[in-house]
Amino acid sequence: MFVLDTQRRPLDPVHPGHARRLLTQGKAAVLRRFPFTIILKDPGHPAKERPLRIKVDPGARTTGIAIVDDASGAVVFAAELTHRGEAITTALDARRTVRRSRRKRHTRYRQPRYANRRRKKGWIAPSLSSRVANILTWVKRLMRRCPIAALSLELVKFDLQQMEQPEISGVHYQQGTLAGYEVREYLLEKWARRCAYCGQEGVPLQIEHIHPQSRGGTNRISNLTLACQSCNRAKGNREIQEFLQRRPERLKLILSQARTPLKDAAAVNSTAVAAL
Ligand SMILES: [Zn+2]
Repeated sequence: MFVLDTQRRPLDPVHPGHARRLLTQGKAAVLRRFPFTIILKDPGHPAKERPLRIKVDPGARTTGIAIVDDASGAVVFAAELTHRGEAITTALDARRTVRRSRRKRHTRYRQPRYANRRRKKGWIAPSLSSRVANILTWVKRLMRRCPIAALSLELVKFDLQQMEQPEISGVHYQQGTLAGYEVREYLLEKWARRCAYCGQEGVPLQIEHIHPQSRGGTNRISNLTLACQSCNRAKGNREIQEFLQRRPERLKLILSQARTPLKDAAAVNSTAVAAL
């Protein structure tokens, strides 16, 4: 729980039990419900400070934020931000349609008055700038609630070209780097860290060929998914259509998800660059 002193300066966060005690004893009052913050009523509270660090793990749809005690490694606070990227794109598309239809009407032509259609340097797409602003807002908010000494950002860069065209570096690429870190991270993101067949979470996942390699399946990312060990074994080198014969819904879902474009990966790249 976050604690502020009488001057609203951040103090070391305390255990929820401690916060409850302070509240019932009338030594503190609730300042904010989320993130839960209490404010002390009497000044002169002894403050021992721990080295706290904010860790940010940006993702395409959500971003993880955690406050970690650098000395003990304990997680003091953790949250997940859900981004509005998709909603912004839809809204802008709707606006664009309305404007376009207005321009299509045959009314008099009006000269443009200013040549102001230029993008500023460092421009990024609105859906992405929303993600960046979102993260910055929360980092600033947390820094007002607790004494932060350091910040670290996990930079994930997906090599889009390598994922789109695995044959780009030929034999070498197919000989093992495919199972490398970036492809793995990408697949985890794309398949929501679950087994594609049974949907189980929090189990070790293996990279799985939808159209089996032994039957000419490629190493393209669109042919890859993640499966838990038992599903991977159960499927063996059968075709997915055969394996999921009795579950046509799941089959449809997997096949459409596999074809999903890589724009989510692109989103993570742009945000990482903008944050720098
Ligand atoms: Zn499974």
